[in-house]
Amino acid sequence: MKDVRGGGEFRAIQLNVQMKAQMETQVNQRTAIIIGAGPAGLTAGIELIRRSGIKPIILESSHSVGGLSRTVVYNGNRMDIGGHRFFSKSDRVMQWWLDVLPIEAGGEEPGELRYRGHQRGIPAAPSKADPNVQDRVMLVRQRKSRIYFLRRFFDYPIRLTAGTLMTMGLIRTIRCGCSYLWATLRPRRPERTLEDFFINRFGKQLYEMFYKSYSEKVWGVTCDQISADWGAQRIKGLSLKSVAAHYLKSILSRKGRGDINQSGTETSLIEKFLYPKFGPGQLWEQVADQIRSGGGEIHFGVAVDRILTQGGQVVSVVGTNDAGERVAYRGDSFFSTMPVRDLIRGMGSDVPDEVKQVSEDLHYRDFIIAGLLVKKLAVSEKDGSPLKDNWIYIQEPGVKVGRLQIFNNWSPWLVSRPDRMWIGLEYFCNETDAIWKLSDEALAELAIDEAARIGILDAGDVEDSHIVRVPKSYPSYIGSYSRFKVIRDYTDGFTNLFLVGRNGMHMYNNQDHSMLTAMTAVENIVNDVATKDNIWAINTEMEYQEEIPRRGPSRETSREATEPPSRRKIAVAGTAVE
Ligand SMILES: Cc1cc2nc3c(=O)[nH]c(=O)nc-3n(C[C@H](O)[C@H](O)[C@H](O)COP(=O)(O)OP(=O)(O)OC[C@H]3O[C@@H](n4cnc5c(N)ncnc54)[C@H](O)[C@@H]3O)c2cc1C
Repeated sequence: MKDVRGGGEFRAIQLNVQMKAQMETQVNQRTAIIIGAGPAGLTAGIELIRRSGIKPIILESSHSVGGLSRTVVYNGNRMDIGGHRFFSKSDRVMQWWLDVLPIEAGGEEPGELRYRGHQRGIPAAPSKADPNVQDRVMLVRQRKSRIYFLRRFFDYPIRLTAGTLMTMGLIRTIRCGCSYLWATLRPRRPERTLEDFFINRFGKQLYEMFYKSYSEKVWGVTCDQISADWGAQRIKGLSLKSVAAHYLKSILSRKGRGDINQSGTETSLIEKFLYPKFGPGQLWEQVADQIRSGGGEIHFGVAVDRILTQGGQVVSVVGTNDAGERVAYRGDSFFSTMPVRDLIRGMGSDVPDEVKQVSEDLHYRDFIIAGLLVKKLAVSEKDGSPLKDNWIYIQEPGVKVGRLQIFNNWSPWLVSRPDRMWIGLEYFCNETDAIWKLSDEALAELAIDEAARIGILDAGDVEDSHIVRVPKSYPSYIGSYSRFKVIRDYTDGFTNLFLVGRNGMHMYNNQDHSMLTAMTAVENIVNDVATKDNIWAINTEMEYQEEIPRRGPSRETSREATEPPSRRKIAVAGTAVE
């Protein structure tokens, strides 16, 4: 029992058989304890197996892998929590994904991918797979997403087409044109808020039509309380000017149509992405299998709530398992993807007061998705065929729903019956909101009622429903976020503790960023690199950090104050385009 170090409060913890066995294996092998089996935790696990002799032991509080990128299966239908596009500007991540799931045959030019103007073969054998025959396939999907406003569909991102102008109508088009001109002549300076950001790039009319309502639904605050930096980080490069330039370019050149990586394209204008045949969870389940077959362990139902430290090192973590027993895991290094606030709480009474204060004032945005199985939708494409959108932003006033997913269009294999539509209505909220506390039945009723009210479906066509609540889906850039460095300095002080991933770093990281943080942490261990600056630097620039030489003093000192620009500047922020 004394082996569980870190203070009297833990002395009573029983060392279970599992831990004794683990201590025995540790005699010969170094061990990494990884908290969370989401993309970051699993990437850390497999990279440790591939690059080091260190054994990963992953502790996961739930009973599935993939975290926010898991796939929920309900009555034969598969639900993606939010719709995950597999796209990265990082060569390494693209290749990594295709090593796990081979690309679909015929989805691109046979046998090759294009990236940054280069062509290359598909990385792993089997290099391609037929989704009609094989299950382990990465599909190539065409992105389509529109805005639903006043019961009409508008392209997202806005496209300058005759169709857009006709849908808007003459009066609205003139108003939009005038307000854009006004914004160009009299831009809001300094550009402080997200409202300023949008108006400067699109004019007030277009902002109110296409961006205001959705952004405010996502973050639960008005756009004038959100920092302009957030727009700069998430929808960088997008403006009416870039929309016009993109339109002209697409007319003048056909180049890029077969380029699934489209690295020269601003992210918000990317038109193709990769997607596992059975949803994102399929890829993460494959990775989990590889970890187990490579000698790693994944323990489900273990919620870590104590991190025991001694002399600038983490020595073990403690959690509660499904049976209600306290279980402890010792290791040589520790990766955390658990929310930063929970981690700091778990570090106990030795944490300095300032760190605790900043940590307790970190905010999160939560998320509910209501899956509805329907015979048909009440809206269709102009030719009467089913909607082709992957997702639709709901700008309609008077409803709480923020976005609609059409899972059939992510992958037809997500839906058990081809003659049914399987859709997801997304609600952005806080765990403290009344909507979060509604029963599943009441939430399903709300979703059906709202979808019927805005003309998306007839309530009588709904055959089945499934509700998924997703706490802490978005780390918020409000509250004490601007003082996050206090936490970072404290946790970085523990030499064998690595904060990685999205909530793990309280950064708005996508899968690829989350993976890159884990990969970089593993490389630091393998190469004996002491700094963690290179981990924090990921997702702070458009071209990801891996393109910059990885090691050496120049890398580590070249980042100004080593703090992500967004962290330094942001006071309050937030809108989501994902
Ligand atoms: C609505 C939405 C849409 C998105 N769309 C995209 C997209 O299109 N493309 C894209 O690339 N990314 C997208 N993302 C982001 C992507 O989901 C995340 O980047 C990724 O899942 C983060 O991985 P992670 O491992 O850091 O964290 P998570 O996925 O959150 O995984 C963390 C894991 O840790 C476990 N855990 C937490 N606390 C504990 C604890 N105390 N003890 C044990 N286990 C614990 C959790 O159960 C979870 O399994 C989207 C996210 C959302 C919410």
